[in-house]
Amino acid sequence: MKVLVFGAGQLVQMMYLAAAPLGVDVKAVDVNSRDILHPVSKQKLEMTLDYALSDADVITAEFEHVPEDLLALAGETGKFHPNAKSILTGADRVREKACLDIANIPNAPYKIIKHIDALDDAVQALGQRIIFKASRDGYDGYGQWRMMIPEDVDDIRIAFASLDLQTVPIVAEKMIDFEREISIIGARTSDGKVSCFDIAENLHYQGQLHVSVAPASNISDSLKQKAHYIFETLANSLEYIGVLAVEMFQVGDELLVNEIAPRVHNSGHWTQNGAETCQFEQHIRACLNFPLGSPQTNKITAMINIIGCTSFSRDLISIPGCHLHWYGKEVREKRKMGHINVTANSYFELSEKLSKLLTFLPEEYFPKLAGEIRRLK
Ligand code: ATP
Ligand code: MG
Ligand code: MG
Repeated sequence: MKVLVFGAGQLVQMMYLAAAPLGVDVKAVDVNSRDILHPVSKQKLEMTLDYALSDADVITAEFEHVPEDLLALAGETGKFHPNAKSILTGADRVREKACLDIANIPNAPYKIIKHIDALDDAVQALGQRIIFKASRDGYDGYGQWRMMIPEDVDDIRIAFASLDLQTVPIVAEKMIDFEREISIIGARTSDGKVSCFDIAENLHYQGQLHVSVAPASNISDSLKQKAHYIFETLANSLEYIGVLAVEMFQVGDELLVNEIAPRVHNSGHWTQNGAETCQFEQHIRACLNFPLGSPQTNKITAMINIIGCTSFSRDLISIPGCHLHWYGKEVREKRKMGHINVTANSYFELSEKLSKLLTFLPEEYFPKLAGEIRRLK
């Protein structure tokens, strides 16, 4: 069987690695050059896009920012999963907010800014602390502006002056004082069966995911039920097929959805070493209409992103339960270079292993991991 994936980053690489044991071949599409690439070596394959589209049993995407003409081409084949509607919803925050509201799913209060004149009204409505998000093309916190004090509005006005807000509106969101961020990741099959992994707890710095721990600790049954209800409601409303991620803020016993990712997700990488079936294999299974794998957690797992650096010792894999997943990309500031999964049988054991891991990592990881280590103890 053959799967063609829009996007040529680390997610398609990990899909390829997870699909191979099932006898499923995965190829990547560079959506800019339209070249067909090997997902690991990134070498160009001698094949046209048209041929690759017709040759594939299933077409899917590793990210939501797929050019609309490619989405249309894939849609015409009838082989595209999850589906164009889900990708467009994940790619456009205006659609995403509408989708959440229609499904009655709680989310951060917001205003849509399509003209600079609407800025003051948004500030009036949302209060003193606001996060402004470009409705399209943002990821890892790019395309966002934060208003932390009222005076920041002047900088924001200047930043917005050069934007085409008609074409790409801004979603202004009330800054939520959440207790923590969590995500629920799961799969939905073509016959509507839904199967979720355990909930992950996520730590972000400057809008970018740095650490996930799964299963999230101290999560009440009522919160779990709410997260599952939200997942199922959204997956059903999108008629979703494949793996879907939903990012949420926990505020007391309430959950507000931050955003959805219509794809495998960074906060699901822990499943590679901590769950019976990893999210990449699960996505392949769901898309090809194979039976789903068990999402059961085998080990408590922490996932640590290696961001913008290569200066660490590979010997960290000497720590029992420590697994390196390296993407082979050129180093760039803020770029996700790889991740480390650390598995353990208890939160305490995990904290001990993370303390050991710190000795192999650059100093800048200390503040990121120290808090987690204390919390898990
Ligand atoms: P991703 O790489 O996850 O797609 P993104 O660029 O799409 O990221 P968001 O997930 O919308 O951005 O925001 C990034 C982070 O910024 C969130 O994980 C959270 O830490 C913070 N954030 C976003 N919206 C809010 C909000 N309304 N209130 C408080 N913090 C927020
Ligand atoms: Mg996003
Ligand atoms: Mg996000």
